[in-house]
Amino acid sequence: QISIDEVKASIRDVVDFPKEGIVFKDITTAIKDPAVLVYCVDELYEYYKDKGITKVIGIESRGFILGSVLAYRLNAGFVPVRKPGKLPAETIQESYDLEYGTDTIEIHKDALNKEDVVLIHDDLLATGGTVCAATSLVDKFGVKKSYVNFMVELDFLKGRERIEDKYDVYSLLRF
Ligand code: 5GP
Repeated sequence: QISIDEVKASIRDVVDFPKEGIVFKDITTAIKDPAVLVYCVDELYEYYKDKGITKVIGIESRGFILGSVLAYRLNAGFVPVRKPGKLPAETIQESYDLEYGTDTIEIHKDALNKEDVVLIHDDLLATGGTVCAATSLVDKFGVKKSYVNFMVELDFLKGRERIEDKYDVYSLLRF
């Protein structure tokens, strides 16, 4: 079986993407390797299998990848959170601040209910702005409980501090 260090090493650093000064963690080099993909899904399954998750939320667009595999594995439904204008029916929206300007994400109004136990998944936690907007959206449905999961967490950006008081946060790989 593959080791966690091999999994970490399979993530590629891309310098100056999407703009100068940023070192982007590219997960495509990890998930294209079948052994890495199996490792990631199995580890996450072990952590969440007894939590009673009914829906996995994937955040557009890299959150859709492991999010939907996890949903299948956990025998849960999958719900997309998307950029504005992509979801066809009635939505609720949440905006959040970026370094320059703001961004918005949305979810279908009928996507969740009070009985749901939700796992919010994204590929990576950086400053935490995106996931805070996602938890605000999910909270509006009055769900039973929400868990938050990332494939990768960038410790030095301290995004965790914005969510760990209120949610169970688990990241597979930390840099
Ligand atoms: P945050 O809102 O926490 O600052 O940024 C996280 C969001 O931006 C996630 O949706 C994630 O997909 C994307 N993101 C930011 N930096 C990176 C990165 O280095 N690698 C990847 N794969 N995604 C990133």
